[in-house]
Amino acid sequence: MRLVGAPAGSGIVFRRTDLDNFEIPANGRNVAKVSYATSLMRGSVLISTTEHLLSALVGYGVDNVIVEVDNLELPILDGSALPYVQAFEQVGLKQQRRKREYIRILKPVEVREGTKFIGVYPGAGYGIEYTIDFPAPIGQSHLSTDLESGDYAAQIAPARTFGFREDEPMLRNMGLIRGASPECAIILTKNAVQNGPLRFHDEFVRHKVLDLIGDLALAGRRIQGRVIAERAGHAMHTALVERLLRDRSAWEFAHGFGEAPEPGKLDAAGGESLLRRNLPFPGERLPNPA
Ligand SMILES: [Zn+2]
Repeated sequence: MRLVGAPAGSGIVFRRTDLDNFEIPANGRNVAKVSYATSLMRGSVLISTTEHLLSALVGYGVDNVIVEVDNLELPILDGSALPYVQAFEQVGLKQQRRKREYIRILKPVEVREGTKFIGVYPGAGYGIEYTIDFPAPIGQSHLSTDLESGDYAAQIAPARTFGFREDEPMLRNMGLIRGASPECAIILTKNAVQNGPLRFHDEFVRHKVLDLIGDLALAGRRIQGRVIAERAGHAMHTALVERLLRDRSAWEFAHGFGEAPEPGKLDAAGGESLLRRNLPFPGERLPNPA
């Protein structure tokens, strides 16, 4: 996989270099059927497991990029978005002249399915409240954050994906997790973390926030509003994107938060500010350096 700079207004575009550079823009029109991961499909061409890279791009403040990939699946790496963020830090971001265009939420849009729920509401910033409720040993957990606060690189990106060991045979039978190993996911038994230590005591809910940010990137623009998710997952996240985009009265395009950035300076949500403001959440621990 290789990331290449793109002109302002391009958005995030995947390019299959093994298929004559066939392009699939990361937007709601190209969402494929999802269950355990979020995939994009245009025509008969698929790009699978896009959510962690999309999360890193949005979390780090990258609006325009071409993602060249020579296979149908993105690398899982360590199961988090941290390797992507570290790679971005090494090369830096280019500030483009055109102001960032947001999707500003004007009225609530909600999706409910049994006990699963997700909704997006008007609000300043990009607020996220996530509640999970999994079988032991995860249990219930809640996290509230705002992407505009600049916490993503330190507080969300390092959180790894996770799975229950007892689900492994079923997932392998479905053709999934063929590259899975203890190096790319937290593996859980009925009462313990098999391959600890965790990077955060609440790493699971942080990873769900990571996934949510990546899935909502398929709205095509950064969201200005507040998202509340309870027991949700990729299918609920992308269902919200589809419902939101369909209801044209629920949002408008907007430019920035108040003041426009001065020419030559980084946007408030730009990469540099994220790096310098690695503030922990109140009451939360910093990531375990292990
Ligand atoms: Zn994930």
